[in-house]
Amino acid sequence: MRRQCIKVPKKKGETLRRMLLDLDILDSSLKIGSDKSFLYLPLSREPAPTELECLPEESELIDFDFELQQKKPAPENLLGFSPSYEVIGDIALLEDADLDRRKASRIADALLRTQPNIKTVLKPLTPVIGEFRVREFEVIAGEPRTETIHREYGCRYKVDLAKAYFTPRLSTERSRILSWVKEGNTVVDMFAGVGPCSILLAKSKKPSKVIAIDKNPEAVRYLKENIALNSVKNIKAIEGDAREEAKKFAGTADHVIMNLPHNAYEFLDSAVLLTKPGGIIHYYGITPEDDLFESSIKLIWEAAERAGRHVEVLEKRIVRSYAPYQYNICIEVRII
Ligand code: SAM
Repeated sequence: MRRQCIKVPKKKGETLRRMLLDLDILDSSLKIGSDKSFLYLPLSREPAPTELECLPEESELIDFDFELQQKKPAPENLLGFSPSYEVIGDIALLEDADLDRRKASRIADALLRTQPNIKTVLKPLTPVIGEFRVREFEVIAGEPRTETIHREYGCRYKVDLAKAYFTPRLSTERSRILSWVKEGNTVVDMFAGVGPCSILLAKSKKPSKVIAIDKNPEAVRYLKENIALNSVKNIKAIEGDAREEAKKFAGTADHVIMNLPHNAYEFLDSAVLLTKPGGIIHYYGITPEDDLFESSIKLIWEAAERAGRHVEVLEKRIVRSYAPYQYNICIEVRII
């Protein structure tokens, strides 16, 4: 069967396979093709230009003849329904918070039997809460731990899900931010967590400096570990309050990333302070369907005005649906 695919040297095949899985673009109904030097990974859809930009060097988009994959049993074959779960490293996170213990155990058992990459199954006991945006979990089955290493776009992120925020759901968003950053830029990631955005940017070698700030000491402990794990040098990890740290880096940033969607508006004065003339703020918010962008843009205008600066709105988008009638949005503005 002829399909569009990514051709890549064999030594980069595993990195590419994981990237395509993260992007949800690998066609797993077809067998990965190979010859002496290359692997051919079949695609389920046309990749976006920003996605192509993130692929390993020497990747090539071509057509190739594939064989159909022999089907392995999936969790739904054992359960009779498709469980809803998210995979972070080798941990599966059950998404339905209302599952009773018996049903959660059945799902966990099916996941451990059919998905060799899953070693632990967790059920969240709370939503993402508090200043540090963390959750409590119950271990349903497998190894009793909440720490794992997640791979994304060729980077590795160690995280304890009970101690610091991390979600793979923002991986496409992170690659989108990468497409905004230019050679030699300075980036300030005001709410960096364990570093998935900061480290991706630093590893691309485009920015000359990334300043990654977080107030949660546990997040910064993992951030520092992840900087070492990914051998990135052009990045500085800071444990502190973004508002206080902004004063030390005033007027230095070409890009300011404000990924604290529930409260980012409270930090707009600091983001404006950080931004060079002509620099860009990547502002995230949670907003209602009937006022997706306007109130947030007004708050950005007001913060810029207080600093005697001007705003040019460059882009506004829905990142994902957050709750009924509520969206996680992103607004990109230039601060002049
Ligand atoms: N950007 C990271 C990511 O995508 O995984 C983490 C985003 S998480 C939604 C927000 C982060 O902001 C948390 O790690 C939290 O500890 C941090 N945070 C909350 N208030 C803060 C503050 N005042 N200063 C710095 N970091 C803060």
